[in-house]
Amino acid sequence: MVAEILSVGTELLMGQIANTDAQYISRRLSELGVTLYRHTTVGDNPARVKQALHEALSRADMVITTGGLGPTEDDLTKEMVGEFFGLPMELDAKSLEAVRARMCRIGREMTENNNKQAYFPRGAIIMPNACGTAPGCIVEQDGKAVAVLPGPPREMKDMFERQLAPYLRKRSGLHIESRFLRVFGVGESKTETLLLDLFHGENPTLALYCGAGEVTARISARVRAGEDATPMIAPLEAEIRRRLGDAVYAAYGPGEEVSLASTVLKMLIARGETVTAAESCTGGMLVSHLIDCPGASAAVLEGHVTYSNQAKMRVLGVRAETLAAHGAVSAECALEMAEGARRESGATWALSTTGVAGPDGGTPEKPVGLVYVGVAGPDGAKAERLMLRGDRDWIRTLACQNAFNLLRLRLLAR
Ligand code: ATP
Ligand code: MG
Repeated sequence: MVAEILSVGTELLMGQIANTDAQYISRRLSELGVTLYRHTTVGDNPARVKQALHEALSRADMVITTGGLGPTEDDLTKEMVGEFFGLPMELDAKSLEAVRARMCRIGREMTENNNKQAYFPRGAIIMPNACGTAPGCIVEQDGKAVAVLPGPPREMKDMFERQLAPYLRKRSGLHIESRFLRVFGVGESKTETLLLDLFHGENPTLALYCGAGEVTARISARVRAGEDATPMIAPLEAEIRRRLGDAVYAAYGPGEEVSLASTVLKMLIARGETVTAAESCTGGMLVSHLIDCPGASAAVLEGHVTYSNQAKMRVLGVRAETLAAHGAVSAECALEMAEGARRESGATWALSTTGVAGPDGGTPEKPVGLVYVGVAGPDGAKAERLMLRGDRDWIRTLACQNAFNLLRLRLLAR
């Protein structure tokens, strides 16, 4: 089945709101095994809505519209669908009762234009609105179908999941299952090169997305509804892991959120170990990323932001001689910061960062982007020199990612 999305709303064209409805529906269609070829956006203009419907239905089996389903004059999507198919609008008594009941419940007066929300093209499958007033509908004719959904994201999602998704599943008989592998430490082009021959498959398919210094590989398999996709996905996952090794730090299904920080945190909690951080250029980001993860209290003890040399000496015990001989941005300083934080906190592990995040402050010896990250643990302390590229925020984000990865590798090696 091939579908298209038709978003209706002048606000979308004016840039006043982002089209998150289309994003949501697109993602769900791909998970449901429905092929999507196009998005169209038009304003609240009857002629253009009808024209767009005509064009979309000349290409696709199914069009899903959002917006323009409310009670006001400019809400015309449903009416245009009726006109397009040559179907008269008919009152649905059950919907009228539901609209009335809802208006009463939220303490609003029922006005003439509210009645409009209970009219549908003749023969439409009506989709009640559990989160709002205007019901949606599906209109079918000659093997083509149009589903009309409300614009407000909460209402749209609820109606999509409760009513449209089951309908689509039944119609397509297919389902796409995906698995995501997160990769750190091998760049996007190197990852692509290592996996090059694996991109040619039609089912399952492999795609790469890049993030903050990392890459996500998505494996998607198309199966019949109710069939298990694991036997198709598992061999490809195993091959990717064989080629990328330790760089693959997590694997998960749709709907899960995983990061380097959450992965490291999970490893620490599983071992009953704790962590602290001594941060200069990342200014608290390291600890903040850890505390973003639910359950962080089981492993995160404390964090220090020691931006000045004074603070590095006073709080962490970095030696004045170290700073004088090597400067604050040095492997030696990163090591002493991590060791000091570990000693002061009693944590199993301590991370440290010190670097030049820019845009100013770079010198020929210590240019913008030079960052040292340190890890101190039961088996000693190590520091790594990084040359990072990007603006201030990006350099600091990458410094955190690298620090988490260093700790992850140390944990794996123990
Ligand atoms: P209402 O009954 O509230 O009038 P409606 O179905 O008629 O709903 P619209 O009037 O088109 O929908 O839009 C209502 C609100 O829903 C918009 O102001 C906007 O906040 C949100 N909205 C509409 N379309 C989208 C979209 N494509 N993506 C995200 N939000 C949207
Ligand atoms: Mg409206």
